[in-house]
This record gives sequence, structure tokens and C-alpha cells, in this order.
Amino acid sequence: MADDRILLRMCRMSGHEMKFIMEAFEGEWVVPLGPNVSGFEKDLEKFLREGCRVVALSSGTAALHLGLLMLGVGEGDEVMVQTMTFSASVNPVRYVGAVPVMVDSEPSTWNIDPDLLDKAIADRVEATGRKPKAIIAVCLYGMPADYDRLLQVAEKWDIPVLEDAAEAFGSSYEGRRCGTFGHFGALSFNGNKMITTSGGGALVCPDEESARKAMYYATQARLGYAYYQHEEVGYNYRMSNISAGIGRGQMIVAEDYIAHHRHRQEYYSEHLGGVDGIELHENPDPRFDSNFWLCTALIDPALRIKGQDRAYSSAITGTVGGAGGVTGQGASIHTDCEPNANVEALRLALAEKGIETRPLWKPMHRQPVFAGFPAYVNGVSESLFHRGICLPSGPYVTDRDADRVIESIMELIEKK
Ligand SMILES: *Cc1c(COP(=O)(O)O)cnc(C)c1O
Repeated sequence: MADDRILLRMCRMSGHEMKFIMEAFEGEWVVPLGPNVSGFEKDLEKFLREGCRVVALSSGTAALHLGLLMLGVGEGDEVMVQTMTFSASVNPVRYVGAVPVMVDSEPSTWNIDPDLLDKAIADRVEATGRKPKAIIAVCLYGMPADYDRLLQVAEKWDIPVLEDAAEAFGSSYEGRRCGTFGHFGALSFNGNKMITTSGGGALVCPDEESARKAMYYATQARLGYAYYQHEEVGYNYRMSNISAGIGRGQMIVAEDYIAHHRHRQEYYSEHLGGVDGIELHENPDPRFDSNFWLCTALIDPALRIKGQDRAYSSAITGTVGGAGGVTGQGASIHTDCEPNANVEALRLALAEKGIETRPLWKPMHRQPVFAGFPAYVNGVSESLFHRGICLPSGPYVTDRDADRVIESIMELIEKK
């Protein structure tokens, strides 16, 4: 990198990508499909779990959309979804015309609270006379959901689970990789995820038959005739052979990247974990093995940060989020649900020192776009959002960078 800024999270090329891309060019495989796509899918199957089938797609969002279609979710159906997540977990529910029912988190994993989910499903059945059609479980920041309890609830009601493991590539729970717990699982290889294809995703399917069906939907739902014949609406969601080449190069170093993230977490934990008023988000117990895609921390409201009285004095003009692109302009400096002043002051002061941090994801039930839909809340997700911050993680963040982050945070804490 040209300057000494420490960014929140950047993907890194391994050096192996060009080989696969060149092969694609030389073989005239600069099209969707081709040997890199099937090669990448095989790499992923081996990495995830013996026997699963992976379909490489153009994005994680596309994977979630296809997952819902595969589960037969349609117009007017209800889908239970974790409220503490990124909007891409919920948007596909709307693409198929279904109703998202948002459910709050438990404080240990930050993921969907299985007891609240159970109560919420009972309430939906009573209110609508019908069972929700699917449960979208998220492994936020790479932390696995509490699958023992979650799958018990899903089984009790006989409702299929669609796992949003977009952030959890390489995480595992009781030794089993995230992405393989649901009936279907979604992975993302966007430019900011654990590994990248420059933009892409995958649907993890239970068997060959469902994988073939997903591929059919992802390639415009074409039937086997000499001419184009369609009986269903299809999509153009397949991954290109060039993107898959990048993915194959990334798979060669995936385990190293995951180890690096876990080391980053341990390092922050060692140096910040004991600081009064700062709580690192850790694996709740040995069943959980997060990839720590992002290292995150909670800041106690009582912890005073220098300059916190001036936080929120000016509007944000840039874009937030790894995908960049065009953002709309907010109408005001404040919304009625935002990070505490000390968290915002910390973010601003670190940004001035060239260190990028970010608030946690704002819960979906507090997003105006989903305000009209049912939500079952317990205050956990909002409380996390008020207090939380994402720290620089990822393959570019060295121990020396982490030292700078830690020292800067320590300097910014007001001594009592
Ligand atoms: C990134 C992300 C997605 C979407 O993946 P894309 O590949 O960017 O479409 C979905 N869910 C979560 C939780 C994510 O972080």
C-alpha cells in the first residue's frame, strides 16, 4: 500500500490467481462456466464438507435469493431472519415477494436467539394460521450461530434453514464448517470477504439433484431443446470462469488467511481484553471457532473518549462499506438509532490517525426500509449497535499495525 493507512479489511491476492486466469484466456474460456468454475466448486466442496455440492454464483446475495427459490419461498410467505445483520440477508426475502420477520440476537454469539425464535414462530402461526416458510440464520462477523439450539427449534417446527455464511468462510461449530448447517448455505466472495473472486458467491447444496436445479435457475431456466424453451423464470447468476480463477488462487492460501484473522483476534484480545470498558467479542465456548472475519469490540457507555462531546457535529459525506459505489445522501446528521457518542468519537479520532474502523451493522428492524414488517426484539441487537466497533482485521493488518491501533485507542481514552 502506498501510504500508512490501516484499513478495516482488504482482500489480498495470493500470487496464484494469474496462473488460473491465464489458463482461462489461453483456453478461450473467458465466459461463464469453464474449468475454473468446476475446479473452484470442487475446491470449496473439499474445504467445506465431504458430500456437499457447491454452485458458484455471481454474488452472495444471488446465493441467498436462489436458496429461497430452492426452498419454494414465494409471494406472501413469511421468512424468519436475524435482525442483527447486513441488509443482503433480508433483501432477497423481498425479491421473492415474501415477508421478513425479524428476530433479535442473544448476547453471547450476537446471532439469532433460538428461544426468541421459537416464541416468534409460535406467534406467527397463531397470527397467520400458517408456518413461516424458512429461517435465515446468519454467522455474523464469522461467529457461528448456536446451531445445537437453533436446529432444535427448526426441527421442532419442521422449517428449513438457509444459512447466511457470507462472513463465516472457514468458521466452524463443533468441528463442522459454517455454510453446511442449513438445508442450503450461502457464501460470499465479495472484495471484502475472507477470500475473494473480485465479486462472487456460492450456494451450498445438500446433493447433486438440488445443485443441478440451482444451476438451472442460475442460467436462465433453460430446458433441453435445440431452441430456447422456458417454463419458469430464470436468472443470470452463474460465476464467470475468470472470477473462478481468482477463487482457485485464493483457495491455495485460504487456511493461511483464516489463521491470520484468528491471530489478529488473539492479539487484540491479549492487549485490549483487559482494558476497563472495552470488551472484545470472543468465542463463547470451545464449540465455537469463529474465523474472526472482523474483530469487533463493545465500548462501555461510561468509558469517556477524548472529543466525544463533539461527535456527530458534522454530516458524513463518503460511502460506508467495502463495496463502495454510490450511496444516497442521509437527510440529517442523526437518526433515532445510532452508535453512542463515545463510539463515534473513537471512530472519528482513529480515522484522523489513518485507522479505519466502523460501527457494527445496524439492526434491520431499525432500518426504515424494513420498518413495516414484524419484529421480535429483546434489545440485544440495538444495544450491540450502540456500543460496538469493528477493528482493522484481514491479511494486510500486521502486528505492528495492530500495535498502532491499540496504542491509539489507549491514548484516546480519557483518564479519570
Ligand atoms: C456480504 C454479505 C452478504 C452478501 O454477499 P455479496 O457477495 O456481497 O452479495 C450477505 N450477507 C452477509 C451477512 C454479508 O456480510
